[in-house]
Amino acid sequence: MSNSNEETVTKVQHWTEGLFSFTTTRHPTFRFVNGQFTMIGLEVQGRPLLRAYSIASANYEDELEFFSIIVPDGPLTSRLQHLREGDPIIVRRKATGTLVLENLHSGRNLYLLSTGTGLAPFLSIIKDPETYKRFERVVLVHGCRRVSDLAYFQVIKQELPASEYIGECIRNQLIYYPTVTREPFDNTGRVTRLLTSKKLFQDIGVEPLSDLDKVMICGSPAMLRDTKQILIDMGLQEGNHGEPGDFVVEKAFAER
Ligand SMILES: Cc1cc2nc3c(=O)[nH]c(=O)nc-3n(C[C@H](O)[C@H](O)[C@H](O)COP(=O)(O)OP(=O)(O)OC[C@H]3O[C@@H](n4cnc5c(N)ncnc54)[C@H](O)[C@@H]3O)c2cc1C
Repeated sequence: MSNSNEETVTKVQHWTEGLFSFTTTRHPTFRFVNGQFTMIGLEVQGRPLLRAYSIASANYEDELEFFSIIVPDGPLTSRLQHLREGDPIIVRRKATGTLVLENLHSGRNLYLLSTGTGLAPFLSIIKDPETYKRFERVVLVHGCRRVSDLAYFQVIKQELPASEYIGECIRNQLIYYPTVTREPFDNTGRVTRLLTSKKLFQDIGVEPLSDLDKVMICGSPAMLRDTKQILIDMGLQEGNHGEPGDFVVEKAFAER
């Protein structure tokens, strides 16, 4: 029996020349925990070409959503960028990953720290009612180079707060902090610098991150390394499957 399902693309949205999102049908038996990733891809010369992708939709939604980079010479994304509504796409039946609530101890505030497409798993986590039961406040930080790279800005600012299902939690408990590094914007600076300078906490008016809080991190390998060190220096402990901790980490992509 195959370990994959063939789904159909239902919608494609391009944010910039290098970023796009798409939704697909969802096989009724495909289950996942919010924050997990699966393998998706296309058939190329008769063989599946698959890559890891975080699932950006929540596990109670009928369709699956993915948020993708376009790597110009990337084996998969150079093809995936041409996806159109109605196209087939392969989705592995198994989802996995460390960015799940059960890998964290309960705490005061939950910080979701992301750069680039590292936002994807957190889109599913901020739509999960359980997130708001477990934490007083949820602080979503999304760092990008340019303002145009802040995909989902309007979704998080306008659509989600108006949602019938999750809107009240989003309005009352979610703090969204988009930040850019290469041009002027309301918030600027790297995620790491925003933490060490405490500017993030001043800006959002929340008590600085401490061992009372829990953190999920998803970004480039360098961002993960530096952010993780900051948390370790603060006395926070990394969690994993079977051993919950104060923070959990997932690569937004692997270096070639
Ligand atoms: C756990 C996990 C979850 C992932 N989730 C996503 C996701 O939700 N969305 C997504 O677009 N990608 C995600 N990726 C990366 C994805 O698996 C592929 O690498 C990406 O789709 C590019 O595929 P490719 O075949 O075109 O190029 P690849 O040969 O896979 O990558 C070529 C190079 O491009 C760079 N690169 C790849 N992906 C990214 C990225 N997302 N951001 C910045 N640089 C990148 C890296 O330097 C990489 O070595 C994830 C990776 C991992 C390990």
